[in-house]
Amino acid sequence: MKLYSTNNKDLRVSFQDAVFNSLPQDKGLYMPEVIPTLDPLFIKNIQQYSLQEIALTVASTLIGDDIPKEDLKKIVEDAINFDAPVKFLDAETGVLELFHGPSYAFKDFGARFMSRVMGYFSKDGDKLLDVLVATSGDTGGAVASGFLGVEGTRVTILYPKGKVSKVQEEQLTTNGQNIRALEVEGTFDDCQALVKQAFNDDELNIELRLTSANSINIARLIPQTFYYFWAYAQLKSQGVNEVVFTVPSGNFGNIGAGLLAYKMGLPVKHFVAGTNVNDTVPRFLASGLYNPKPSVQTLANAMDVGNPSNWVRIQDLFDNELEKLNGIISSYTYDDTKTQEAMRELFEKYNYVACPHTAIAYLAAKAYKAEHAVEYASIFLSTAHPCKFPEGIDADIFEKVTYPAGAEDLAGKPKLAEPLAVSYDDFKAYLLNNK
Ligand SMILES: *Cc1c(COP(=O)(O)O)cnc(C)c1O
Repeated sequence: MKLYSTNNKDLRVSFQDAVFNSLPQDKGLYMPEVIPTLDPLFIKNIQQYSLQEIALTVASTLIGDDIPKEDLKKIVEDAINFDAPVKFLDAETGVLELFHGPSYAFKDFGARFMSRVMGYFSKDGDKLLDVLVATSGDTGGAVASGFLGVEGTRVTILYPKGKVSKVQEEQLTTNGQNIRALEVEGTFDDCQALVKQAFNDDELNIELRLTSANSINIARLIPQTFYYFWAYAQLKSQGVNEVVFTVPSGNFGNIGAGLLAYKMGLPVKHFVAGTNVNDTVPRFLASGLYNPKPSVQTLANAMDVGNPSNWVRIQDLFDNELEKLNGIISSYTYDDTKTQEAMRELFEKYNYVACPHTAIAYLAAKAYKAEHAVEYASIFLSTAHPCKFPEGIDADIFEKVTYPAGAEDLAGKPKLAEPLAVSYDDFKAYLLNNK
């Protein structure tokens, strides 16, 4: 597998380089030079395969010889060790639950796969790989549990004090081993700025082998294609062939992976993006003008993104042509009031407790359905377990949340986090003094 930069199509790097660099120096995004299509027979018979078998076929088709199939099989089986079931709410609407991994959010797919790929490419004798990650809540938990115990790696998570939920904080701060948490006296933007500055610090980059675990990494994108194929397999085994996926979107990595799956031959009728009031992409699709804005805080805070970093990749997949993009993606935007109403509707109509992000996808799926009366299975993606977002959910509904097995164990573990002021000098000193 070779990758180019969306800013320079003549550039070619190996999969390994793209994984460790995350971003090309020209600040484009890495894209596969060729997007291979899957054997049509595989798609035709996909209902015969397990999630792990599907994941291996998809991953090895994309990655090719860069990781021999036997090794890739181990990575896939170790990383994707939890299910992603489609549950039908009524005859034509289903929810693809992506929160059955260790951090109870879909980011487990990306983080677990990426951590193992980084571990695989790290050779004996290499310097310890230092992964720095800023999180507003979900990314940090997935990266922490993804890298926990992965040899040759160490993770430093920066999170904003008092601005993550209880379960999220427990997932960030109870790991120990090769995972460290810094509780920053500031906002998520402050955390992100500190991490960015570290990556640009030449002195630090000589002392430490730094890498990022952010959502634009190609090794996070690839495993997110797996569950689109797996959802399709589950639908096919129930005799359903036509599907529209609705994805709650922030940085547009999740839906980007769905579109990559589509390009690889997954027969999807259409994709729908649901956003909160951070509506840069819906405005772009309507007007053709890409006009990012500073992010606004919402109940669906993992989608509070003003300038979605994966969007360029999606444009690239469709030749930067607005008409092609509008032919495959529709989008809808909802404010917090609508989001709360949707959580109530899901609860009262279907006895289903959803997190705010999932509720936005539900609304967008419904809106698209109302405009397109043809028959198809409408599948919306549930990106997180509701227990991670107590603040956004009305108390009478939240009471009905069943915590996943393991959540209680977390609560009993001691919190391991060091306080950090919003000071780059302090952050740098921490990294250098704790090598
Ligand atoms: C990260 C996240 C999203 C947004 O996904 P993108 O790939 O950034 O579009 C949606 N929901 C939850 C719960 C998340 O953690």
